[in-house]
Amino acid sequence: MRLVLFHTGGTLMMRGDALQPLAPDVYTRDLVSELPILRKIADIESRILFNLDSSDLQPHHWVALAEAVHGALEAKGDDGAPRYGGVVVVHGTDTMAYTASALAFLLPGLDRAVILTGSQRPLADVRTDARANLVDACHLATMPIPEVGICFDSRLLRGCRATKLDAWGMTAFGSPSCAPLVELGVGVRVGPHVLASRPVAPFDGRIEPRVLVVRTFPGLDPSLLLGALGSGVRGLVIEAFGAGNVPRLENSLIPVIEAARAIDVPVVIASQSPRGVVELGRYEGGSAAARAGAIGAADMTPEAALTKLMITLGRAGDGGRVVAAREAFSASLAGEMD
Ligand code: ASP
Repeated sequence: MRLVLFHTGGTLMMRGDALQPLAPDVYTRDLVSELPILRKIADIESRILFNLDSSDLQPHHWVALAEAVHGALEAKGDDGAPRYGGVVVVHGTDTMAYTASALAFLLPGLDRAVILTGSQRPLADVRTDARANLVDACHLATMPIPEVGICFDSRLLRGCRATKLDAWGMTAFGSPSCAPLVELGVGVRVGPHVLASRPVAPFDGRIEPRVLVVRTFPGLDPSLLLGALGSGVRGLVIEAFGAGNVPRLENSLIPVIEAARAIDVPVVIASQSPRGVVELGRYEGGSAAARAGAIGAADMTPEAALTKLMITLGRAGDGGRVVAAREAFSASLAGEMD
């Protein structure tokens, strides 16, 4: 089988030591010659798309990556059969969950695996997680798993349910509201919830980056948000407390939600609790937010809520943003919510 591996940057190929911060290295070395054992898994074609610390990636990078992945899925070999059996993406961990979520929404039709991976330590280090993660990611990319997944520390997580939970340990990612798609132990255990194959759809790369995510906290001054609404925000994600609760007495956020609705800016409420479901009716603060027009994000991660809103707004016409967001958040598009 042939795989395509897209490089975007991240620690895996970085250079640095205790005296110098880790920084993107020049891509002078071919990954497969660094780790020849990968040849036992598949023929791997490497392409360098970017060479960035993932904290420098922007929405236009997600779109460029999604377009490259889409092109690879549509590519045919000389015999007319699909050229690649799967896709691997090497990516930094810092924003991998955002990119994976964006890819899941930008590639609604998927008939092969798209596996993102990276590492906490560079491949060149003696003590590194890069080798195991790369081998696992390439192996998973050959399997019939039509999902955008994050492969890290012997697990494959659904990309649009994953979040970076650890900046030190080797288990960098978790998906608190969704069981791993695959566990790699002595054997390979595939979960029953892996999505069915969907035909690859035409590519649509429209995205609206002018979306703001705000975490509620005691003391948040609503006038700061009203100011942001006046400066061109097209969508707002509020990371609310618990089940979707926001302040409604002192420093109430309800007038912000009403003001947003009046200018066709959708307000999506996610939770700052990594586990659990937003139920706007559970407490008075959430109920008032719903009455003012807020849209609950169920058990979506903030990363998934943000990218879904950006992509929905990219496709929505002026004057139809709230309606489009309400419709998009009423259904799961890529397994991002239960
Ligand atoms: N700062 C790095 C990045 O996200 C961290 C990593 O790769 O683990 O690109």
